[in-house]
Amino acid sequence: MRKSHGQSFKKQVIKLAECPACQGRAVVQGVFHELACEACNASGWIDGWTRQALPLDELVTQLGMNLRVATSQIEQLRNPQVTGPEELYQSSNRIGAGGTNFTGD
Ligand SMILES: [Zn+2]
Repeated sequence: MRKSHGQSFKKQVIKLAECPACQGRAVVQGVFHELACEACNASGWIDGWTRQALPLDELVTQLGMNLRVATSQIEQLRNPQVTGPEELYQSSNRIGAGGTNFTGD
């Protein structure tokens, strides 16, 4: 028995980095108008480890996975209570120390 379909077929999130050629804008300034940046396949992102542009099929997957991670992080920031009571305690502490202070008594 040998495991032929192992971890290597599992999709992993690649750490993306901002494309240095276009500063993550996905376009570069041409003579008359902006052109699609070729260094990052016009995505604004490159592989954070190899510093190379990802192939288009891989790029789509990675952008989707990274967007999913990013949106869940945004959701957690918007709704701190879903992460647990400790997180809620810390965030309400922060609000009390900094911005909204109710001293109306
Ligand atoms: Zn670029």
